[in-house]
Amino acid sequence: MSIYSASVGDSTSALASRLDQLMDGEVLVPDAGAVAALTVYGGPPRRPALIIRPRTAVDVARALPVLVESGLPVTTRAGGHSFGRRSVADGGVVIDVSGLSSVEIDAHSRVAMAGGGTTAGRYGEAVAAHGFVTGFGDTASVGIGGLTLGGGIGFLSRRVGLAADQLVGVELATADGNLRTVDAESDPDLLWALRGGGPGLGVVTQLRYRLTEIREVHGGVLLFEPDAHLLAALVDAVADGPDELSAMVNVLAAPPAPFVPERLRGHPVLAVIGAHSGSPRDAAVAWDVLRALGPVVADTVAAVPYGSLLRDEQAGDATAVTGAGFADRMDAARAERAIAALEDLRAPVAVINIRPMGGAIARVPVGATAFAHRDRRAMVIVSTIFSDSAAAETARPIVDTLVTDLSDGDAGYVNFLGDVPDPERRAFPPATLERLQRIRATVDPTGMFSRA
Ligand SMILES: Cc1cc2nc3c(=O)[nH]c(=O)nc-3n(C[C@H](O)[C@H](O)[C@H](O)COP(=O)(O)OP(=O)(O)OC[C@H]3O[C@@H](n4cnc5c(N)ncnc54)[C@H](O)[C@@H]3O)c2cc1C
Repeated sequence: MSIYSASVGDSTSALASRLDQLMDGEVLVPDAGAVAALTVYGGPPRRPALIIRPRTAVDVARALPVLVESGLPVTTRAGGHSFGRRSVADGGVVIDVSGLSSVEIDAHSRVAMAGGGTTAGRYGEAVAAHGFVTGFGDTASVGIGGLTLGGGIGFLSRRVGLAADQLVGVELATADGNLRTVDAESDPDLLWALRGGGPGLGVVTQLRYRLTEIREVHGGVLLFEPDAHLLAALVDAVADGPDELSAMVNVLAAPPAPFVPERLRGHPVLAVIGAHSGSPRDAAVAWDVLRALGPVVADTVAAVPYGSLLRDEQAGDATAVTGAGFADRMDAARAERAIAALEDLRAPVAVINIRPMGGAIARVPVGATAFAHRDRRAMVIVSTIFSDSAAAETARPIVDTLVTDLSDGDAGYVNFLGDVPDPERRAFPPATLERLQRIRATVDPTGMFSRA
């Protein structure tokens, strides 16, 4: 329990004292150090009025009714990888749940229980020690709460479904100060919303996931020189491939990594990054189908633990400009456009990321969860990072046009939409959004979690 710095207004100090009396965790009136620890991916630090660091779920539940009364914008921050930077608001109260990071495993029922601030990397290590996995995204430092609330697609999704599909239950602290246990029996409507409806329902203090026994995958990177027909063929081969193969196809400038031939470093390449989670023989067949599509210039595919494929990525103070759509076809003309775009973007870091969907993602009925894009063939994500915010500003319309050119319609995956106008309309079809808003109104009647 600590309150730092007295250089704030009376009402903030009074709120801080009140919260401090209610909670075991910390209440901070942020100094520069505390703000730096709360950066959100892809932009300079924001300046919240208060940071609370709960030690327990009960801390969160006790704090929420007081925060409702305060009228301040309230955000939850876990892994800090929100592309729309929605987890910290200037002048608001941040509930920093990163301390809620315990992971417990019930190996008998094959369920893991993880705190709402756990990262994919930490969770993965804990369950891998027992020979299990839950499929998340491609990045270890992303919070499982933020990722799962939006859906969560990664290197196992075509086999085991989205992260939201593996979610069997949640402990949710709601604005009224209750800690609700949400599962298919207790509250199917709320569980529907928590599976892909994005944030806005409360603070998730614990997530419970189905575990799958996978000790090793055959995964890594296949690198090819850029070619439009090849790009289109690679996307089709993954989309039409076995469910055990989940991979993304990237257009990017080759990194200066040891496995990349020197002549290609810094030049556009096609990179297939993914995992086959079936038998070694089936994995070899599936990867060979991709290898046969064009001359492979680098190949790191090997038998590895699933967790070793996840990167740890931070953007520091650099500005991220992101856009997302869904493509039902990737023909040579679109592929040509994707390859040429690297030049137009003039970004120090730019990736055109195509993620074939299908498999287990598509076997869940479209209306069964708030993630409603299960019938789409592939996600398209354009992701750029600029050290200069003026250059980032110039890139925004280029990214938007590129996403439009590569997509069918203007829908996008909520976790990758970034800072675009009207993200909810783009993330959710009308019937999904209407149901979601109805559910949000029951658990957050004042709209506290939608204000920031
Ligand atoms: C480098 C990078 C790689 C990514 N890769 C993938 C990927 O492979 N697949 C994929 O599907 N997505 C991916 N994403 C998107 C990512 O899933 C979302 O941005 C996600 O929301 C990040 O969650 P976080 O906890 O890290 O971020 P935060 O910024 O802490 O939170 C993001 C949002 O979720 C809310 N939130 C977080 N935790 C909780 C909680 N416990 N209770 C209530 N609300 C909560 C926050 O309030 C905020 O609105 C990636 C993002 C980045 C930056």
